[in-house]
Amino acid sequence: MNVDHSPRAEVVIDLGAIRDNLGLLAARAAASGAETMAIVKADGYGHGALPVAKAAVRAGATWLGTCSLAEALDLRDAGITTRLFSWLDTPDVDFTPGVERDVDLSVSSLAELERVAAAAARAGKPARVHLKIDTGLSRNGCPPYAWPDLVKAAADDPGIEVVAMWSHLACADEPGHPSIDAQAERFADAHAITRGVGLDPLRHLANSAATLTRPDLHFDLVRPGIAMYGLNPVPQGEKLTPAMTLRSSVVLTKRIQAGESVSYGHTWTASRDTTLALVPVGYADGVPRTLSGRMSVWLDGRRHPVAGRVCMDQLVVDCGDHEPALGAEVVLFGSGAHGEPTATEWADTIGTIDYEIVTGMYRPRVRRRYL
Ligand code: PLP
Repeated sequence: MNVDHSPRAEVVIDLGAIRDNLGLLAARAAASGAETMAIVKADGYGHGALPVAKAAVRAGATWLGTCSLAEALDLRDAGITTRLFSWLDTPDVDFTPGVERDVDLSVSSLAELERVAAAAARAGKPARVHLKIDTGLSRNGCPPYAWPDLVKAAADDPGIEVVAMWSHLACADEPGHPSIDAQAERFADAHAITRGVGLDPLRHLANSAATLTRPDLHFDLVRPGIAMYGLNPVPQGEKLTPAMTLRSSVVLTKRIQAGESVSYGHTWTASRDTTLALVPVGYADGVPRTLSGRMSVWLDGRRHPVAGRVCMDQLVVDCGDHEPALGAEVVLFGSGAHGEPTATEWADTIGTIDYEIVTGMYRPRVRRRYL
């Protein structure tokens, strides 16, 4: 049966905000002669990869970046013709459709180079490759000691077109952290080796934080993600607008008396007679249970605390003497423009990062709506 799920929980994405944020980042990049690759992995950080990709391209992105090849191919299937780059897959993934459909591929090792070259042979055309040097994050990427061999093998292979060399920063969100310059130095060394074998690839290194704070590291291309979604990775006062709002509505109200307790475990007890409003959204919809006792919602123009534990499908708001109407809008988090909580505030409260909050909104039960 095809049930039309009511929007118990709804994520509203402001594509205008994404365009504005990306426009600001692309302008920064352009000022240093760089192009912009909008990062739309993990379903656009929970915002929807395809609508975000279209908005980003409209606002000036000339590249799109995904983690997996499958994510990139989904965008191709949906008609995206922009240059695409994907960088992390398991060894069993066949790169052939990536080569056939002009997805640029990252290569971190000789083994990976061989697999991409084999895919190029099957596709009957060279693979477009970005060689990744590990400059100090110690995740994927070729360690510096293996770089000369990788670069030479790539240069010598007719099935490989070396489009770019790239790396990723560990501490760009802490401007002034000594690792940033140390990584930049290793990147420069790796570039010199690359030039030494006659290659002159594009270079890219900067995520959002480095795009905003280190124009000297923009090189040919910047790769912002989080800032495009309006969440600022550096305390800098940029004019970014958070694009995601999580909203729901009041489905039931009731009065309880002082001394009555609320929700599982009875962790909260009313200190006065009060009105409770039931909101049908819970940890299955992306509200961390660890926010229990530490969160409020925006309802009828002001914040009201959540009483007791966040449950799987519902939470209870302590409204005092206010009596909200059935169906009244409840904003769980939003841009903060009116005083509502933000994803960043949630993250700070529970000791994580706002990336995790918004990416966690990639849930089938939560309806997405675009402005
Ligand atoms: N480049 C790579 C390789 C990434 O993994 C990411 C995200 O983690 C980004 C760029 C974008 O980073 P940010 O969202 O901090 O801008």
